Amino acid sequence: MDAEVIILGAGAGGLSCAHSLLKKGVKVVIIEKENEVGGLMRSVKFKDFSVDYGYKNLDNGIPDVHHFWKELLKDDYSSIEIRTGILYKGNVIELEKKYKGVTRGMPLGLLVSSAVDMLISKLRYRRLNTSSLANSIYARRGKKFTQIFSQEYSERSRGLKWSRIPAPSNNKDSKPLSDFLSDALKTIPKKGGSFHPNKGTGQIIEQLVKEIKQMGGEIYTGCQVTAISHQNNQISNVTVSKSDEDVKISGSKFVSSLPLQFVSPLMGIDFAPSKMELSFKRGVIMVYLFLKKPVKFVHNSLRVSCPNVFVSRITNYAAFGGTMIPKGKACLCLEYFTPHSKHLITLSDQEIKELAISECQKSNLFDKNDCADVLVIRNLQADSAQSWEDYKMDSTRKSLYKQLSGFENLYQINRTGADKSSYAGIMAAKSIVENNRTEFDELTKPDVVSPWKGAI
Ligand SMILES: Cc1cc2nc3c(=O)[nH]c(=O)nc-3n(C[C@H](O)[C@H](O)[C@H](O)COP(=O)(O)OP(=O)(O)OC[C@H]3O[C@@H](n4cnc5c(N)ncnc54)[C@H](O)[C@@H]3O)c2cc1C
Repeated sequence: MDAEVIILGAGAGGLSCAHSLLKKGVKVVIIEKENEVGGLMRSVKFKDFSVDYGYKNLDNGIPDVHHFWKELLKDDYSSIEIRTGILYKGNVIELEKKYKGVTRGMPLGLLVSSAVDMLISKLRYRRLNTSSLANSIYARRGKKFTQIFSQEYSERSRGLKWSRIPAPSNNKDSKPLSDFLSDALKTIPKKGGSFHPNKGTGQIIEQLVKEIKQMGGEIYTGCQVTAISHQNNQISNVTVSKSDEDVKISGSKFVSSLPLQFVSPLMGIDFAPSKMELSFKRGVIMVYLFLKKPVKFVHNSLRVSCPNVFVSRITNYAAFGGTMIPKGKACLCLEYFTPHSKHLITLSDQEIKELAISECQKSNLFDKNDCADVLVIRNLQADSAQSWEDYKMDSTRKSLYKQLSGFENLYQINRTGADKSSYAGIMAAKSIVENNRTEFDELTKPDVVSPWKGAI
């Protein structure tokens, strides 16, 4: 099994790295603990459906990755429009200005009561606006508008109440907080357009695997890395366990796409995030509802701000076009983020299925008789599913990245965001080929601004 480069994990990052290395003639071996490849970007296949793993918006912020995917899939990687809505008490409120003008489809009663609330809030919260993030925004936008448009969804997805976050100040030390604020208020996906594989994001994985195998790459599934040995800032070998048998694998370079909280303990590095470090805490339970009929709304996703339901985000795969969904049918994926819905962890799959259907029914999304099948996928350590803003702010994460970059022949490429992981994988391959890791370390730092930003 020994090779020049050993890649740990066969997700978007690891496979992109392997593909880029093989193209330059470097021999690679990929070790994956699951029996299937793709990690958080694999397809979810069920009967005649083949859909994404949760919500996947490939928002094309990184030109190198965009071109890499385009070259892989050609015409099957097509431009799509992303339309996002808000689900609030049975109403789908439009987030894209161009479709519904100023009212954004809010029912008149809700619009008027929110406008009145805005006037009252401006008076009530003006004097309290320095006490918390919530109060400072209520004073500007009104409490009700804030809760509907940003606060409720942000609190669910981050698992942090805005009342616990201090109000932003203008001094330069508050930079991370203003980042947090701008992200929380971001309602419309950035300009530049989105692209999506016609058969779903798992199509990228399938094409990568096909080409990796054609170029002679070896992928070992069902093999778990259980230890990473090192000496004098060099990784010497990894221990891989398969069916209770341990094998040591050596190589000259190692690329890890394992999340930091898994890779650090394997190397004997302590991992202990503080309570406020949100990015390590986000798990997700995904409930796929396979429907006999199309749904009434046209949005790719709905952010949920109804106070009386637990779901946080709903993806409507039919709205992505392509061939993920058989004609005349639909599939919704309900994401329950576990910091917000902790109690769901203890429920059985049957109980979660019933909850998901009843929440959709309550929100007028479809009639329960239209639901043919339900699938529950739990990923309680979906570290990469969380917000980029939280990810780059965590101090434990920054310090671990720094420690790992001290190992000269180790490239840690796991990131939040399929584009960022793939970019880190491509850059690791480039550094290995050029035998110079400076560019990799500079351009893929967890808190780097460029080139993550800047749409195509
Ligand atoms: C619900 C959800 C929604 C998301 N939405 C978006 C989105 O809209 N846009 C976007 O760009 N990104 C999104 N993401 C994030 C994106 O999917 C991930 O950031 C990206 O796929 C991570 O790729 P990776 O290769 O770095 O890691 P992973 O996909 O996590 O791959 C790591 C691999 O390592 C394997 N592994 C772990 N431990 C071991 C071990 N000890 N030994 C061997 N193998 C091991 C894992 O099984 C896995 O296959 C979302 C993620 C989720 C879960």
